Order: sequence, then structure tokens, then C-alpha cells
Amino acid sequence: MTLILEDISHRFGEVEAVTGADLSAAAGEIVCLFGPSGCGKTTLLRIAAGLEPLQKGRVLIDGAVVAEAGREVAPEHRPVGFVFQDYVLFPHMSAAKNVAFGVADRGREARDIVAEELKAVGLEGFEKRYPHELSGGQQQRVALARALARRPKALLLDEPFASIDVVLRRRLREELRRLLKARNVAVVLVTHDPEEALALGDRVALMRNGAVIETAAPETLYASPQTADGAAIFPDSQRIHGAVRGGVLNTAFGDFPANGSANGAGVAVLRAGALSAAIDPSGPLRVVDSRFAGPGYAVYLASEAAGEDELIRIMTDTPLEIGAQARIETDPAGLFVFPA
Ligand code: ATP
Repeated sequence: MTLILEDISHRFGEVEAVTGADLSAAAGEIVCLFGPSGCGKTTLLRIAAGLEPLQKGRVLIDGAVVAEAGREVAPEHRPVGFVFQDYVLFPHMSAAKNVAFGVADRGREARDIVAEELKAVGLEGFEKRYPHELSGGQQQRVALARALARRPKALLLDEPFASIDVVLRRRLREELRRLLKARNVAVVLVTHDPEEALALGDRVALMRNGAVIETAAPETLYASPQTADGAAIFPDSQRIHGAVRGGVLNTAFGDFPANGSANGAGVAVLRAGALSAAIDPSGPLRVVDSRFAGPGYAVYLASEAAGEDELIRIMTDTPLEIGAQARIETDPAGLFVFPA
């Protein structure tokens, strides 16, 4: 592996931002670091870059230790490039000067590198523009070109598309994947957009409460997730909490098979399409809402046990009558049960 973060822990005063996190990326691989706001993604990346002094653990890049207890290699001497939210372009320098910043010591060669990298990010002809003369997306690209100009072994990107609208984001994402794949660089990209993580990542590293709890390729997460977060990363998944007893998860919405799960608190992750609903006057659930959503109808069901605070959502081909009693059926292929 080109980039290895080993057993990293980090505190900000009372806040334990990162707790025993492991993360790695191979040359030519894109790893998407995904997790809820505040789970420690940015902190982990800043430690890898050397922008945050290491407190515990080890960072290796290209086989060499760049940070361990009592020893730190300065950020500018690590073979890493990074594009961070708060690490913006120099406003008083043109796009070309910004890109040249990290390679100025390479003399004439630097000019070729700058031209090459601006072209690679689709900004040929923008050399003389100043940051305020560029759109948010173009500024991001200049920052990426600047990071790539250093010919890093590892590239760290913190929410590179955060300030860009959804449509452009999808297009840039595809471009970015192609651009990065053409280089032999180990990439870690932070996102809290599950769609982005699945679309861009060769592997997705799921972070929660300061730890990386599961790292796997999207298809592995789909077929055999090891955690509820891994199972639920796919669109329109929902979780239902309950208690496992004798291989069955009892919930307010009914029982679900939970073969192999130990007795105790459990959570079912139901993927889109795993549930179907039908009107049944003796059914245990009640239709609370039914409204058009894309190709079908989103139907919300309540149970007596859960009240109206917790509803389940099921896609149906036709609307169901609000207030009617209903029953649900589960397709076990889209059901995953984990300890809660
Ligand atoms: P987001 O997706 O919202 O950017 P994140 O997963 O990147 O979140 P971090 O920015 O790494 O999370 O923050 C992890 C925790 O550490 C949070 O509780 C945050 O408030 C705290 N934290 C981060 N930086 C500092 C700091 N410089 N001083 C004090 N606390 C900090």
C-alpha cells in the first residue's frame, strides 16, 4: 500500500476526534472516506498530510514513515498533494503561478508541468486568470492541478465538490475519476455523499465516531456488508431497530429473519425494494401517507407499537388509501441484520 494510516488517535481537548483509525490506499486506487458530519474524516486526512501534528499511531507514504511518536516529516517534504476546503488558492497569484507554487524549484521544467496540469484539469488558456476571475469549480480544478503538479505518491481530497451544484458535480466526478486513474497515485477522497462514495471509490472506508469501521469495494458492501453503515450506504435503505431472539429480529413493524445474529439489540437494514406492501383489513400496519415519488409511490406505514414517530417507507406501483390497514412482505435478499 502506498498510503498507510495505522492506529491513529487524536484529541482536541475533551473531544476524541479520531480513535484507533486504520486506513490505506494502494497506488492507482481511489478510496472514498465516508461518514457523518463530525466523525473525524477531515482530521484523519490532515494528519496524513502533516497539517495536524500526530498524537498516536503511524503514517507511511511510499514505504517510508512520515509520522510516528516523536517524529514528523513536514508537510512540504511528504510526497503528498492535497486539496482541502480551507486551503484555498493564493488570491494574488494567477492560476499558473498557483500551480507553479510547489514546483518553482524545477526551473524551466516547471513551466511545462504547469501547462500540462492545467490542461489535464481542462483549464488550458486560463493561465493568467486570478482566482476571483474563476468560478468555484474552476478554482477547485486549479487547486487540484497545483496538488498534482508536485507529482505526489498520495493525493488527499477533502470534499472537492462541496461548493458545486449537483449536475456539474456528477460530470466533474466522472472527469476526476478518469484523470486520477490515468496516474499511479493513491487517492483518499472525503465525502459525506453516499452516491459520490460509491461512484468514485474503488473502495469505500466507512467512518463512525472516530474509527474506520469497514473498508470494502462497493460490490462487496452490496453483497456482504459487515456493518449496518455498510449495508445502508445504498440509496433508499432504511433501518428498523428491534431485539434478536432465537434467530428472529422482533420489531414494532413485525418479525424479520436474523439467522446467525446473537440475541440482544439488533437493527435491520432494508434496501430499496426489499419491502412490499398490500392493503389488508386485518393487517398490523396503517397507511399514514402515500405520495408520488419518481417512478412509483412512496407509502409510509405506522404500527401501533411504534406510534407515528417511526414510520417505514415502501415504494409501490399504485397509491394506497391513507388510513387503511396493510401488511408488508420482505424479500430476504435485501435484508441485513446486525447487532445494534
Ligand atoms: P465534516 O463532514 O462535518 O467535515 P468530519 O468528519 O470531517 O466532519 P472533523 O472535522 O474531523 O470531522 O471533526 C471531528 C471532531 O473533532 C468534531 O467533533 C470536531 O468538532 C472536532 N474538531 C475538529 N477540528 C477541531 C479543532 N481544531 N479544535 C477542536 N475540535 C476540533
